[in-house]
Amino acid sequence: MSPRRLLAILGDQLNPSSALFDGADPARDVVWMAEAAEEASHVPSHKARIALFLSAMRHFRDELRARGWRVDYVALDAPGNRGSLAAELAAAVARHHPESVAVVEPGEFRVREALLRACPDLRILPDRHFLCSTAEFAAFARGRKQLRMEYFYREMRRRHGVLMDGGEPAGGAWNYDAENRAAFDAAGPGAIPAAPGFAADSTTREVLRLVESRFASHPGSLARFDWPVSREQALAALDDFIGHRLPAFGRYQDAMWTGEPFLYHSRLSSSLNLKLLDPREVIRAAERAWSAGAAPLAAVEGFVRQILGWREYVRGIYWTRMPGYLHENALDASAPLPGFYWTGETEMNCLREAIGQTLEYGYAHHIQRLMITGLYALLLGVEPARVHEWYLAVYVDAVEWVELPNTLGMSQFADGGLMASKPYAATGKYIHRMSNYCGGCRYQPGEALGPRACPFTTLYWDFLLRNETRLRQVPRMAFQLRNLMRLSPARRAELREAARRLKHAL
Ligand SMILES: Cc1cc2nc3c(=O)[nH]c(=O)nc-3n(C[C@H](O)[C@H](O)[C@H](O)COP(=O)(O)OP(=O)(O)OC[C@H]3O[C@@H](n4cnc5c(N)ncnc54)[C@H](O)[C@@H]3O)c2cc1C
Ligand code: SF4
Repeated sequence: MSPRRLLAILGDQLNPSSALFDGADPARDVVWMAEAAEEASHVPSHKARIALFLSAMRHFRDELRARGWRVDYVALDAPGNRGSLAAELAAAVARHHPESVAVVEPGEFRVREALLRACPDLRILPDRHFLCSTAEFAAFARGRKQLRMEYFYREMRRRHGVLMDGGEPAGGAWNYDAENRAAFDAAGPGAIPAAPGFAADSTTREVLRLVESRFASHPGSLARFDWPVSREQALAALDDFIGHRLPAFGRYQDAMWTGEPFLYHSRLSSSLNLKLLDPREVIRAAERAWSAGAAPLAAVEGFVRQILGWREYVRGIYWTRMPGYLHENALDASAPLPGFYWTGETEMNCLREAIGQTLEYGYAHHIQRLMITGLYALLLGVEPARVHEWYLAVYVDAVEWVELPNTLGMSQFADGGLMASKPYAATGKYIHRMSNYCGGCRYQPGEALGPRACPFTTLYWDFLLRNETRLRQVPRMAFQLRNLMRLSPARRAELREAARRLKHAL
């Protein structure tokens, strides 16, 4: 007998309480899930990203089956797998003849369009995982030229009663950002309580074997794979973070250190993005730690701002600006992405560290993404679409709704200032201040010219020279442009020539 509903679940929708299950009935409805090679290959995904999605999907499938659901699951290596979600959905509809087909809002415009083409009657249900719906964000954005996160965040705090004391922010300030920028002293971070790693069970081992053989040429390694692949593991990771690393999270949020890929960061992004965790429970757990006196307000506010603020805000930007956002290029940047982004083979120590750990774990923390790999691409003038493809490929937490605004808007200024009030342009001296990377590098962060000139510093001046006219329209660039104006014509010419040689050598 034909099922009443076909309930389509995508790889980043592993939530048994989603709108899809409202009124659903295991006796009358069928769940459909498919592993599609296209999702791993439209950008060449890191092996750990592919393995994480597949293992988490298979664990979720098994949980649903244990709860009595009939799950039509198309494995990657199933004979005749059609390779794309759209083709598999169309085949599932033909196989089951359901009365209706539904899916929760996909996280990627491309996927939503492809599914709608394959199944025009597809019902798209709201994604209740997020605290701000796309309609609510559109109302916030209406009529605004710039969409500053801070105002959005304050509205979200008020609306959801998070860290509030009546109508006022707890502690009297909305934002403790100024307390969240400490670097480590020369002794370094010392012993940081390690995050739990999750040993591969038989399901994960099978996936690791499959990914290793099927995607052998893809970037990254599986040797360190220990990400949470089920809700139970994600909850354990959350508990461990709140208990052990949240108290120092805020203070060292922007710091970097050689050989320390995670520091005090939560490593929860992939569990949140797969929907193994609900952002509300993560926020409440952090708030409880503050109420119990186990974590300072600055740390808890800093953490909550990332989830209730940034995460919801970038999703709003994505859905109000797509599909055009994908093609924005306000600085007309057109350089290719250097090949070492895929190998980590460069003499620049900061980039070698950040890319090296990215390939090893599928992870880099926010400042490494923004102020090392993102900054270098910005200064070099890499075409934003190429930068976007790289970020979408190499991180285990990469899903386009969150990756694209962070890459295009925040890190590359490609939206011309919709998201960021100025480009995140800096010299190597910023990296020197926030890390110990420069100590182990053949270059000198303070030098812009000469044999030991730091490429970041040379390219910083070239970036300002190249974009001088455009950047005059950006009020927060005034200070940096004043410094530029102090340079003599001869110095300008030398910097341009040094940058030209640097680019030529890539
Ligand atoms: C160029 C660039 C690309 C990025 N691509 C992604 C991506 O594909 N997927 C992704 O989840 N994050 C992305 N981020 C945001 C951020 O770097 C990661 O969320 C974070 O590093 C994940 O590590 P964590 O869980 O240890 O985060 P923590 O530092 O512990 O932060 C806690 C949580 O806050 C959320 N968060 C923090 N910063 C941001 C942000 N800027 N935007 C949205 N959510 C945020 C994440 O859910 C994260 O788990 C990107 C940032 C940049 C600059
Ligand atoms: S000197 Fe320059 S290239 Fe070397 S680590 Fe420092 S910032 Fe990076």
